Amino acid sequence: MSGWSDSSGTTLDDYTGVYAQRVAGMTASEIRALFAVANRPEVVSLAGGAPYTSALPLDAIGEMLRDLIVNQGAQALQYGIGQGLPELREQICEVMADSGIDAAMGASPDDVVVTIGGQQALDLVARLFLDPGDVVLAEGPTYVGALGAFQAAQARVVHVAMDDDGLIPAALEEAIKATAAAGRRAKFLYTIPTYQNPAGVTLSEERREQVLDICERAGLLVIEDDPYGKLSFGGQAPRPLRARRRDGVFYLSTFSKTIAAGLRVGWILAPHAVRDKLVIATEAQILCPPHFSQYAVSTYLATMPWREQIKTFAQLYSERRDAMLESLADLMPAGMTWTKPDGGLFVWATLPEGMDAKAMMPRAIAARVAYVPGTGFYADGTGQQHIRLNFSFPPAERIREGVRRLAGVIEQEMAM
Ligand code: PMP
Repeated sequence: MSGWSDSSGTTLDDYTGVYAQRVAGMTASEIRALFAVANRPEVVSLAGGAPYTSALPLDAIGEMLRDLIVNQGAQALQYGIGQGLPELREQICEVMADSGIDAAMGASPDDVVVTIGGQQALDLVARLFLDPGDVVLAEGPTYVGALGAFQAAQARVVHVAMDDDGLIPAALEEAIKATAAAGRRAKFLYTIPTYQNPAGVTLSEERREQVLDICERAGLLVIEDDPYGKLSFGGQAPRPLRARRRDGVFYLSTFSKTIAAGLRVGWILAPHAVRDKLVIATEAQILCPPHFSQYAVSTYLATMPWREQIKTFAQLYSERRDAMLESLADLMPAGMTWTKPDGGLFVWATLPEGMDAKAMMPRAIAARVAYVPGTGFYADGTGQQHIRLNFSFPPAERIREGVRRLAGVIEQEMAM
């Protein structure tokens, strides 16, 4: 080895011989690299995934935080316990009960583990269940951060196809069989059944039961990730999987989309038997979730009209979704298709046959519009023909302008 420091300014990695094997699974997310360019002011970015925090009652939250420090500062700024603030875990149970995950379904504050957003919850699940070479079944496409967590654990993600009604049960059965036939062990199904990221689709009522039955028969755990279920545009989302089955289903959610992503508070509702292992794993990782953020969320839930605020977010996003769907319909060339989400943050679009979203990206940036190429949402390098478009952050006029620019790029590309 030539040295320990990179002070030479070389991009060669001097530490290659020292890394643990699992570092091989840690590759840079394409999305992160993209954000630097996409965030330039002249670019209309449909690439993000950010909630619209300007819609929060910021003055009232400021007052709330001030009172919190004045009245409870000494506790709130202290260490907490690994499992998370007890009163917050009770409130989390109230939040879940609104979606049908209630005491009758075995949900208890005792089985909730508070995490640093949904992302740490995914990492904990990976730590607890994945050995190198284990297979995870997941929708294709799926959440890029989940791919990162599973790949860091050196697991192999096998994608299961979706359509407009979400995961296809027959494809799930097929994937379970193929994995077993290859002599591998599938540990769990990772699924985002409601307003999926990135596809924007929702698993239908009927399929929810089928998917649960298939996993139960195969002895496959279900990791249900539900950050978006409360962001419904008009209709009511189907009940979560965990509201239908208590055994074998882990429920992960977060306040990132319903309150504020910057607070970094999420949770896992785990089967009781697993709870202690989760707490031990989280303590080894972070000691305890941020106490101040937990106090902030707990106080917000206790004193602010949080259900109304979720409706405010959903109303705003549904108007922006409409702007996106209308402009796509008005402006996109024939051969292009896209999903029509009933909630959440994203539209998933499919380019005309033979086109490559990643190759097109420099031309899109030159035309001052950004999207996320579909390849980032697959572990196996597929997805070239797809793009993810975000409608939660840009205002409606920006969305229309972005779609207009993008349609121009696609038309040029088709003429090439
Ligand atoms: N799961 C999914 C499906 C997500 O889309 C996200 C965030 N975009 C997360 C988990 C992580 O959420 P958090 O910001 O709470 O870490």
